[in-house]
Amino acid sequence: MSDNKFKVGSVTIIGRPNVGKSTLLNAIISDKLSIVSRRPQTTRHQILGVLNQPGLQIAFYDTPGFQHRFKNKMNIVMNRTVRSRLDNVNVVILLIEALRWKESDLKELETLSEGSNVFLVINKVDSVEDKSSLLPFIDLIKDNYNFAEIVPISALRSDGVKLLIDTIGKYLDSGDPIFEIDVNTDRGKEFFVTEFIREQLYLFLGDEIPYKSGVVVEDFDESDNIIKIKVAIVVDRKNHKGIVIGNKGGTLKKIVSSARLNIEKKFSKKVFLEVWVKVHTGWIDSNANLRDLAS
Ligand code: GDP
Ligand code: MG
Repeated sequence: MSDNKFKVGSVTIIGRPNVGKSTLLNAIISDKLSIVSRRPQTTRHQILGVLNQPGLQIAFYDTPGFQHRFKNKMNIVMNRTVRSRLDNVNVVILLIEALRWKESDLKELETLSEGSNVFLVINKVDSVEDKSSLLPFIDLIKDNYNFAEIVPISALRSDGVKLLIDTIGKYLDSGDPIFEIDVNTDRGKEFFVTEFIREQLYLFLGDEIPYKSGVVVEDFDESDNIIKIKVAIVVDRKNHKGIVIGNKGGTLKKIVSSARLNIEKKFSKKVFLEVWVKVHTGWIDSNANLRDLAS
């Protein structure tokens, strides 16, 4: 495409755990790409979501890596690599939760707001009963910091998301699309299968979730009308296997049926999902290729 009216760009979403980064990414892309949890730090992988609209393409990154930095001394000098990663995108979305900030958050904002491309996006405004209580905060931010834009939203209800996208549009470059325009992520189908199962593990096991566990797709067969998927949940202790399976298999049943519904919805196809829990003794690295461990 040589049409120089086409707009492209990339956006990084950063913010503390639980502010709604994954929910926002899903709302922007109108698809389930990033798993959502009340439990902080469930997003282990950097998720790319590509928004394709007539005349524009925006790549969004849901970045788990930045969350940890927030816990530390973000307010001192921002790590140079972080800074350069932030500089290399068209827009940085700093996501915060409406009416839930502390003095120390504002200190962090100070460093971040120096960038000319940093948006302060205030999420979960649906949970604020008296919307007018947001105004003094927004005024305070405007008076003391230099954010490129301030946008209140509810990622959960998709309120303000279109306005946010339109506003990002002003910061894009002219150029050709970078990703194919009919895809919305760089991740393959198997990735979403393991993620959706992980999401249910967090939901049903909460704090009991075995720390060293992994989810592996052992077989993915879509040659029929129905997709047949075989998955192993790999844990490193026998008693963990019991926890995942639950009383009379009840926990595993719930995990599998909820995950299956999400997978069917995503792929718009019937899914037969077979899940095994396997014990692997030895260290399991959540980022390792667990295919080998599970076989
Ligand atoms: P992340 O850790 O920043 O990726 O946050 P998640 O997207 O996983 O969301 C954390 C929790 O906040 C989940 O329980 C979401 O359902 C909830 N949440 C996210 N966005 C909103 C919102 O706009 N309003 C409300 N009320 N809850 C939200
Ligand atoms: Mg997340």
